Amino acid sequence: MQGIGFRPFIYRLAEEYSLTGVVYNNTAGVSIEVQGQNDRLNEFLAQLSSDNPKIPLMKILGTEINDIEIIESEKTFTIAQSSGEGNISAAVTADIAICRRCLFELYDPSDFRCQYPFINCTNCGPRYSIIKNVPYDRPNTTMAHFTMCTKCRRQYEQVSDRRFHAQPVACPVCGPSVYLCAPSGETTEADTQKAIEKTTQMLLEGKVVAIKGLGGFHLAVDAENDSAVKTLRNRKRRDRKPFAMMAVSVEQVKKFAVVDEASEKILISPQAPIVLLPKRNANTIAALVAEDVNTFGFMLAYTPLHHLLLGREVNGRKLSAIVATSGNISDEPLICENDEAVLNLGDIADAFLMHNRQIRRQVDDSVVHIIDNQQAILRRARGFVPVAIVAAGKINSEIFAAGADMKNTFCLARENQFILSEHIGNLAEGRVYKHWLKSIEHFLRLFDVRPETAACDLHPGYLSSRYARRIRNVKIVEVQHHWAHAASVMAEHGIKNQKIISLIADGTGFGTDGAIWGCECLIASLTGFSRFGHLDYFPLPGADKAAKQAIRPLLGLAFKYNLKLSEKLLSEIEPNKTAAETIKTQLKKNINTVATSSMGRLFDAAGALCGMGGSNDFEAQLPMRLESIAEEDVKNFYPFSLKKDKENVVVNIKHMLEGIISDVEKGVSAGTVSAKFHNTAAEFLCEMAIRAREQTGINTAVISGGVFCNRFLANRLIQLLRQKDFRVLFNRLVPANDGGISLGQAAIAAATR
Ligand code: ZN
Ligand code: ZN
Ligand code: FE
Repeated sequence: MQGIGFRPFIYRLAEEYSLTGVVYNNTAGVSIEVQGQNDRLNEFLAQLSSDNPKIPLMKILGTEINDIEIIESEKTFTIAQSSGEGNISAAVTADIAICRRCLFELYDPSDFRCQYPFINCTNCGPRYSIIKNVPYDRPNTTMAHFTMCTKCRRQYEQVSDRRFHAQPVACPVCGPSVYLCAPSGETTEADTQKAIEKTTQMLLEGKVVAIKGLGGFHLAVDAENDSAVKTLRNRKRRDRKPFAMMAVSVEQVKKFAVVDEASEKILISPQAPIVLLPKRNANTIAALVAEDVNTFGFMLAYTPLHHLLLGREVNGRKLSAIVATSGNISDEPLICENDEAVLNLGDIADAFLMHNRQIRRQVDDSVVHIIDNQQAILRRARGFVPVAIVAAGKINSEIFAAGADMKNTFCLARENQFILSEHIGNLAEGRVYKHWLKSIEHFLRLFDVRPETAACDLHPGYLSSRYARRIRNVKIVEVQHHWAHAASVMAEHGIKNQKIISLIADGTGFGTDGAIWGCECLIASLTGFSRFGHLDYFPLPGADKAAKQAIRPLLGLAFKYNLKLSEKLLSEIEPNKTAAETIKTQLKKNINTVATSSMGRLFDAAGALCGMGGSNDFEAQLPMRLESIAEEDVKNFYPFSLKKDKENVVVNIKHMLEGIISDVEKGVSAGTVSAKFHNTAAEFLCEMAIRAREQTGINTAVISGGVFCNRFLANRLIQLLRQKDFRVLFNRLVPANDGGISLGQAAIAAATR
């Protein structure tokens, strides 16, 4: 509970009930010693609950109450200095968006921090991104070398003050400052206020500015300026992947996107993530911001600096929304050092808005969307990390779970907590891998975990698995990829000793039979699983290119199901005839093909058939385009069949694929075909669950896997399953994609002991 004003809260509470004693951070969390009258002590204890509105960020993970000796001489209640000794396991909290009261002071001319870009208090500001070590005290943060002025110190030491022991407390006199640099790194404006004003002006003029924020650099441009967005795309060499945007208020966001009640709550939450919102039909955002999707990713300004940039009026104009995309080179780790930024982003940015508060941990912005009217996380980072996911009971071993190679997060487990790292990225990128290694070290130290068990993916070639298998003196638990997806949901929902039916729709995962799995119905618990059913295998040619070029799964499916594809259709998907012929030969001769039940590749092929293009320039581009055109009111679906083979129920999709091809050739609108395809996928998944229930009597259906980032599919399937009276569970706190794998691995490892 560190860093959320817990100790001052306890102090004020003790005063209220006339209790004496002491509160201090120790390595196990917070210790409170109180003495006083019995009834008052009980009332005091009753206030220590997670839903006490007086302290909105408080989450009590566990309490232990012991009787101690009475100290006769004790007359007051005090807050003691923390000790850094012993077993370090105190909670480190996440970075928190600026609170209402600090925002008010930011614009209050009578406040000595008026317009100060680093205003914060115990209820808001940086935490995880500035912590070097525990316990969370100023000397252990990157604020250590800023010496507090008298005014700040008075507030820091005054228990009744909102800034009592707010570690990053600072003001224009004593704290960090902002300055503007040229692309060369040379300072062009050293004055904080002038630097901010110039930045706003440059953005309004269509320039690209790299802005140092809380967890790293953003590359920013005016989101309504077409040529500025185009310039940023060209310079960043990011052709089509949607950019995230930032606005100053929900009202501003509503000008461009549809914000329902659930989304508004998330936008203004202390975590302030990027929320995917339906685009408004007529809006003034530059088209190039988000081309292939029907949503905009918006977050609200979450630091005082962002507020000042977006709130400032220059020459009678204000910025309504800015693109705020990660300041990195394609998929490399976020840049957080000033020198490194100049070195790597100098060709992209026209200027750098720098500050001199060091970022200890780079944290990306988190991304969430709404499924079944609730929040589901797509990328878990700033605001959420390192808040623990509470386990259903005590974990008897200290665990390291390596995660997957794509969208990696790793996870530590101890006591009753699963602590996930922030989104790390694709480990196949050399720099990401190095960053991953360093991050593991940092986490192990910060949370004082000495793993006795290491969990990893079953995949023989995953870098994460190879690393885990090399750790000495630990028990290795290898977990099948889709079982881990299912377990991530079980861990989130506190399911421990129970079997569930899981429906996993995913890109790829290594199967126990050596095939590439991806559309699975597993009967699973945390201690084991059996495969009940799957999409019938089809041959996938050229494994490494298969996720990029949709022609490969398409021809694989055509080969398997003997589909007739017209030359015209094929040439639209793969204009190079020789390339297509080579793939066909590969299939006929069975050269370099693998058997797969991948739902992701089926979506690629369906996207290509519907005219969405021939290649995924970024991950899941074709499926995302396909989802974005699906017509909500189309409810019918294509025929399919389920058959029992030797061991499993397999889904045969010959008639569905023939139906799609026939519709496309008849000129049925792509939006209708897309919806019918999505509906069919939901139908056959639901049908598998029904058969699994018939056989097992299990009524809980768990859905997970990267393909469920598709809202259309997820919502349809959830509806269908509920209509059939299933209890439906899906990922809320960790991503349904591979970003949630490490939680599943850790939960399984915790149960296997
Ligand atoms: Zn505040
Ligand atoms: Zn100060
Ligand atoms: Fe996966």
